[in-house]
Order: sequence, then C-alpha cells, then structure tokens
Amino acid sequence: MIKRVRYLFRGIVQGVGFRPFIYRLAVGRSLGGFVQNRAGGVVVEVEGGAAAIDGFLCDVQDQLPPHADIAGLSGEEIAPQGESVFQILASGGGEGGGVHIPADTATCPDCLRELFDPQDRRYRYPFINCTNCGPRLTIIGEIPYDRANTSMSCFPLCSQCRKEYEDPADRRFHAEPNACPACGPSLRLLEAGGRDMTAGDPVAQAAELLRGGSILALKGLGGFHLAVDAANHEAVSRLRSRKFREEKPLALMVRDVDAAARLAEVGGEERDRLLSPERPIVLARKKEGTFISPAVAPGVPDLGLMLPYTPLHHLLLAEGFFIALVMTSANQVDEPICIGNREALERLKGIADFFLMNNRDILVRCDDSIVAVSGRRSRVLRRSRGYAPKPLFLRQAFPEVLALGPQLKATLCIVKGNAAFLSPHIGDMETPQARDFYRESLAILPKIAECSPGTVACDLHPGYYTTRVAEEMQETRIIRVQHHHAHIVSCLAENGISGPVIGLAMDGTGYGSDGTVWGGEFLAASEESFERAGRLRLFRLPGGEKAIREPWRIGAALLRETYGPSWLEVAAGLKLLPEEGTGEWMEQIFRQGINSPLTSSLGRLFDGVASLLGLRRKVSFEGQAAMAVEALAVGGREEVSLSFGLGEEAGVHVLDFVPLVAGMVDALGKGRNREAIAVAFHRALSEALTAMAGKIREETGLRRAVLSGGCFQNRVLLEGCIAELEKAGFDVYTHRQVPTNDGGISLGQAVSAAARIMKNN
Ligand code: ZN
Ligand code: ZN
Ligand code: FE
Repeated sequence: MIKRVRYLFRGIVQGVGFRPFIYRLAVGRSLGGFVQNRAGGVVVEVEGGAAAIDGFLCDVQDQLPPHADIAGLSGEEIAPQGESVFQILASGGGEGGGVHIPADTATCPDCLRELFDPQDRRYRYPFINCTNCGPRLTIIGEIPYDRANTSMSCFPLCSQCRKEYEDPADRRFHAEPNACPACGPSLRLLEAGGRDMTAGDPVAQAAELLRGGSILALKGLGGFHLAVDAANHEAVSRLRSRKFREEKPLALMVRDVDAAARLAEVGGEERDRLLSPERPIVLARKKEGTFISPAVAPGVPDLGLMLPYTPLHHLLLAEGFFIALVMTSANQVDEPICIGNREALERLKGIADFFLMNNRDILVRCDDSIVAVSGRRSRVLRRSRGYAPKPLFLRQAFPEVLALGPQLKATLCIVKGNAAFLSPHIGDMETPQARDFYRESLAILPKIAECSPGTVACDLHPGYYTTRVAEEMQETRIIRVQHHHAHIVSCLAENGISGPVIGLAMDGTGYGSDGTVWGGEFLAASEESFERAGRLRLFRLPGGEKAIREPWRIGAALLRETYGPSWLEVAAGLKLLPEEGTGEWMEQIFRQGINSPLTSSLGRLFDGVASLLGLRRKVSFEGQAAMAVEALAVGGREEVSLSFGLGEEAGVHVLDFVPLVAGMVDALGKGRNREAIAVAFHRALSEALTAMAGKIREETGLRRAVLSGGCFQNRVLLEGCIAELEKAGFDVYTHRQVPTNDGGISLGQAVSAAARIMKNN
C-alpha cells in the first residue's frame, strides 16, 4: 500500500545541512517526493510504503545534523502521485515564521582535515566551510538565508564549488558561504597607514609580526580582534595603553585544550565548552607560574580562554611559537567591535600596527560569547557569537513584544509565540558608536524574528537611552518593567517556570519602583507582577555616580552606618581615605545628605567591602572591586566567622550589614588575613540570603528560590547560595543559557510585558 505524507519542519532547519540530510535518508529508504525550503519552514513530501515512511521519520529524529533543532513538526497524509524519485527543490515562497537563522559555527573536523591536507584544493584556505560550519548570522543581509542574501553574493561560485553546492550528496550542498581559493574571499596584510604589504603567505607574515611584538588587527567572524603575543609583557602593556583599557581582563586564544589546561584550571565542563561548536570564551581559574604577561588579567581570579574557531585562527595558531595570543575585541574603550575594513583602519588608528583583512563583509556585528562554569554547570555570561540568534523556547506561547533592554550590557529581545529571540550582546549605551550599534541591532532583530511587535517593553529608569528609544516609537504601546523584576523573570523564562517564586535579585544598581536605587532585593514575584518582600539595609552613595568609580566612598558610607560619627577613627585605622581632610568633608556629606542617594545595592556593598579590605580605592570598570573580593576568597581558608543581621522595617525584611562590617573591622584589627576574611564574607552572605529567603517562605509558603542579577557572576557566592538554599529545602533556579547580568534583562522585560498583556485580556 503506497502512501504520501507531507511534513512541515520548523526550528533551526536551514543552513545546517538539513536538506541533504533529508535527501540521503529518503533515498536510503527508496522513497519518492521532495524537500524544499519555504519561508515558513522546510516542507518534505515522501511517497512509498508505510513502513518505509515511518522508518524515515524515526531516522530524521534520531540522526539530526549536529546544529539542527526541530521546534515543531506537523504531518498530513495526501494523495499519492506515483513519484519514485526524490529531489531537492529550489527555495519556494510561503508565509513567514518558523524558520530560524542559524548561528555562526566553529570550523568542523572535516574542514580542518582538508585545511591541513596539502593534496586538498582548499589546503591552507582561510575561508573553508561546509554545511556544518562557518559564518551564518554575521554574513546575513536579508531573509531567507540564501547565498544571494549574504555578503557572499559578490563571489560567483567557480565550476568546482558550484558542483559541490548543487550536489545533494556533497557535504557542501547549499553551504551558502561555500568558497575556494579560485572563487572566494582572500586575505590581505596592510600597514597601519593602509599600504598593502601582502607578499606570499599573509598568515605566515602576520605570525612573524606577532612574534616580533606587533599589535595585529585581525578580521574575524563577527568583527575585528586585536592580537598580540600573550607572553610578551611589553607588547601586552603597549596594547593596554593604546586601547585605554587599563585593567579589564583580555581574552586569550590557545591552540588546544592542553594549552588551556597549562594556563588555568580546566575541568570536564570547561573542556566541553572550549570544544563546543559555539566556541565561547571560557572563564577558568588562573594557574600560578605561567609565562603569560601579568598585564593580561590583573586582579581577577580567572583567565578568559578560547580555542580557534575560524580557519584563519587555526592557521595562525598552527604557526606554533605562541603559548597564547591575546584576542580582544577591536574597539576603543566603551565602543562596539569594528566590522568594516575602512572602519577598522579609521577607528584602530594608533592602536594596531598591522591589519590582516579580507574582502568578505561582516554584516552583523557579533562579539565573542563568554561562559563560566560553576557548580559543574556552564553558564553563559555574554550571549553573542555562536549562540545568537538561536531562539530560546518558552513554556508557552506569548503575544509579540520587543524589549529594549537596560543601559549597560544591553541586548534586545523579541518574544513571539513560544520563542524568544535575544540579540547578540550590544554593550553599554554610553557612546555615540554604541548607540549606533544599538540602532543597527534594532533594525536587524525584527528580520530575524520575522515580526515587528506593536508593544515595546523598557526599563523604569527615565534617563536610560533605551527608555528614550521606547518613548520615541510612535503608535507603539510601552510597558515598563522594573529592573530587578526583569532579572527574576528572565530566570523564570529560561527555566520554563512561572511564578510565584522568591526572587533573589542581587545586583549592581537599578531604578526602583519608588524611584530610589535598588540592587539587593527579595521579590515575591511572578511573570507579571512582584512585591518587594525584603532588601539590603540602605546606605549612602556619596557623590552618586562617582561612588561607583571610587569604592572608598562606599567604604566610608558603610563605616558611617556602622559606627556613627566616630567612623573617622576607624577609617584612619584602615587607611581608607585617599587624602588628608577627605574624612571631614565626607562627614559633612553624610550629615547633609548632599548628592548621596540611598541604595540597597549588593553590588555596591561588595565595592565597599573591597575598599575596607584595602583592595581598591578606585576602579576602572563596574564590578572590578567585587571581582577582587572574589579573587581573594578563592583559595582562602575558613578561619574567621562573620555574620549579617536580620531585621524589619515597614513590613519589609532587611538584611543588615552593620554586624558584618563591625566583625570585619574587628578581624582586620586582630591582624587576621584578608583571604580568610573574604571567605567569611562570602559564607556569611550565602547564609544570610538563605535566612532571608526562609523568612519570606514562612510568610508566603513559596519554596522556589530564583537567583538572578550581576552579583551571581561571582562563582563563590553563587555556589555558596545554591548549597545553602538547597540545604534549607528550597528548589533553586539559576541562569544557564541567559546572562545573570544585565545581558538577560531584555528577555525578562519581554516576557513580563507579554504576561501582563495576557492577564489583561
Ligand atoms: Zn565544515
Ligand atoms: Zn570555488
Ligand atoms: Fe542588573
């Protein structure tokens, strides 16, 4: 009995070798019919015996290509047409929705083998790729994902490449960026002034320049990198001073996992992430006594490591003489990564000595992603190249919403049906260049999600650039979502749960519902609403924004809260204040409350603690002081005991740092070592957060604890909290795929707004 069935596959099914895969399976079972890309998904019709068709469908599900992901599948039986041949049809039309743009993927083992095979026609060709690997999102100009809509459209395929591209049995069948030395993009080496100095093999030339200590700008997948030899201290320092990036850690690229393990503690999960096709930067605890320049990652506990992910990286690292290459996003401080050749020559003037360019345009800016492992689970801290624009799947379908994100570490998000499309990392909205990049992303994301929602979600903060963008949008409904509520909802969304839960939003600063500065919040929260059930005790931020750059000011505020007017003697004992006379001036600020807003921010408490421990009076980036406290705690011993107090104010639980600060000052006075104090601080905090959650559980009966906010990037704190909360009987939910920092805010905003729309309908 002959049947014919028509299937529609939705999900990540284009640009991942799905059609040749279907072709091979259908031919293998002697089925007739066709496979075709449509705007709404991939349509497959198969005709043959019922058993063969059932077997075919099982094969599809069991043997799916590595980067494909079926999000939806429907099938219907239709009339047989007497077809016994199976074919791949040219892309057709159809209504939008259902097809997801694939993410850029690291060079696959098959392509690597060819890259280093002297007999292969693509031997040492830096743009080798196939249906399983290569650029995707970063070369896309228009939808659908077809060569004509990518930056490869200006490279006509040579006859050999065309044969591969058109042969369903070939592993390059419809590999849109397919190319070879005869027809594809090529490398050029330029001097800083723009003069072409390519002679022979530009990769070998570039490697030689790096060996000599030069700074090389290198065009990659999602933008330019600046590269230097990581073992050359003078060169790394020169890069730092030229980039005005005095202390932020620089990422390293190493040849393989063994090389990574020589520099940092690489466990099983770190290893898997390093080798994953997403190839993120993996944060791992530094080892002592390596040959890496100390200027690579001063004052932080981790090194950021990644493996080569483009053919060019593989060729460069194969030159062999580097322990590691610094590979940092090519930009001036606070600006987005460069993508255009001319843009790079312009913007990197005075930073890079040489430029290794190519003529394949990058159409979508995409920074490297960052992942850290804690509690033996990997957690994405920056979701960009390799992950974006793969959607996250939600627990149910929601109405369409575009969320505009916060001010720092901004991303955008569109929720549509049961999918959430997060943009690649955009960054801090503090420079005109970053804002331009934000606008670019705002133009691209609706194409990726194939919709333009009539509702936008934004932060409550009236001064955020992203809030102003929302207000500019005509004929759009605006829904404002409180910052820490958005953090908690983002964690609900990625875990596929809805409220109510106890949300622990431990964060830097965000605009509170009452207009004050929040950041250490206990929220009884569901997707659409929340109540503030608890918070950190308030303290002043003397000088407002200035206090973020000068943590000694916060240290002073903590001492003032703890000791009253006699704080000055304690501060003198700790040598906290930078100059004579600052104490009296600070005391005046405290008395009169001038330009010193009150906050409940845990991130700022960390800054204050860092200054009391003598770690940092000033910082050059947000979170730096907190990282120093974490670094101190790593490897410290448990010899000191500290604790917070628990109180209540106006029906809200208050976590009181006064006993903690007094205990710390006391321990310092007794000459206890700072490492042990840092360990005790983390432990006290984990216990206190759990005790607070316990109080809220007593009142509300809620037993699910949801952790979010930038403070949970601190792995000592995160692991401590998970352990304490689980010991106390909570079900604990944490971030894995979405950043716990502000990179996840847009997802929370979108889902919260969508849930509110549903509730009101
Ligand atoms: Zn490949
Ligand atoms: Zn070719
Ligand atoms: Fe935040």
